[in-house]
Amino acid sequence: MKSMRTRTIGAYAALCYAACAASAADAPRGLSDVYATLSGKRFVDLTHTFGPTTPHWKGFGEEKVVELYTIKKDGFLVQQFTHVGQWGTHIDAPAHFHEGLRTIDKIPTREMLLPLVVIDVHDQVARNPDYTLKVEDISNWESRHGRIPEHAFVAMRTDWSKRWPNDAAMQNKDAKGTAHYPGWSKEVLKILYEDRKITASGHETTDTDPGLATTKDDYSLESYILGLNHYQIEMLANLDQVPEAGALVIVTWPRADGGTGFPARVIAIVP
Ligand SMILES: [Zn+2]
Repeated sequence: MKSMRTRTIGAYAALCYAACAASAADAPRGLSDVYATLSGKRFVDLTHTFGPTTPHWKGFGEEKVVELYTIKKDGFLVQQFTHVGQWGTHIDAPAHFHEGLRTIDKIPTREMLLPLVVIDVHDQVARNPDYTLKVEDISNWESRHGRIPEHAFVAMRTDWSKRWPNDAAMQNKDAKGTAHYPGWSKEVLKILYEDRKITASGHETTDTDPGLATTKDDYSLESYILGLNHYQIEMLANLDQVPEAGALVIVTWPRADGGTGFPARVIAIVP
C-alpha cells in the first residue's frame, strides 16, 4: 500500500515536472521575439533636422542657438536653444487650440506607437497645389488595404516636404500673397477620427488647413482635430520612403510641463 502510494506520488511528480517543463518552453520570452523581428526591419526617420532658419508659421520668429559652455574653454559643450514649441517637425497638443484639453505631458505613451497609414496624394498635389483630401482618397486606400485600423496614425503624403528647408517654397505664395499648399478636408477628418477611430494624423506642410484657408487665418481643420482631444504632427518628412500600409510609427516628444507643442521625433518601422 505504502509503496503503491509512493509510486503514485512519484508518477504525479513526473507528470507535473513534464507539464511544468512544457509550459516553461511555451512561456513567452518577454518581447525578445518582437524585438528580433523589429530590429531586422528598415527604420525611416520622418523628422526634419531643424535650425534657426527652419520653415515655420508666419507669426513666429527664428530659433536662437547660443553656446553657453564650450569644450575649448570649459571642457564641455552646452547649447541653449530658444524657439517656440511648434518648431520643426512638431506635435500640436489639443491644448494648443482649446483650453482644458490635453497638453503634451498628458498624452499617454501608448499613443506613441501606432499603425502607420499613408494616404498618398502626391500626384494630385503635383497637378494642383491647392489639393485637399477627398473621401475617395480614403476609399481607394481601403479598397487596396482594407479598413483603416483603429488607433492608426494617418499621414497625408504630398511630397511637400521636398521643398524643405526653403520657406518660400513651402508657403508657395502667388503675387497677391495667397499661399498655395495642400491640406486636409473636414469630410475626410470626420471619417478618420469619428468613424475609423484613428489616434492621430500628420502632414508635410506647415498647416492642417490648405494655404487658401490659412491665408485668411482660417485654421478650422486644425481646431477640429485638436478639439476632439487628439494630437497631430506637422512638417513630416520622407513619407515617400514608407509604404501606404503595414508600417508602424513611433511618435515621440519631450514631456514639457503644460506644453502645447514641441519638436517631435517620428520614426517609421517598415515591414
Ligand atoms: Zn503646429
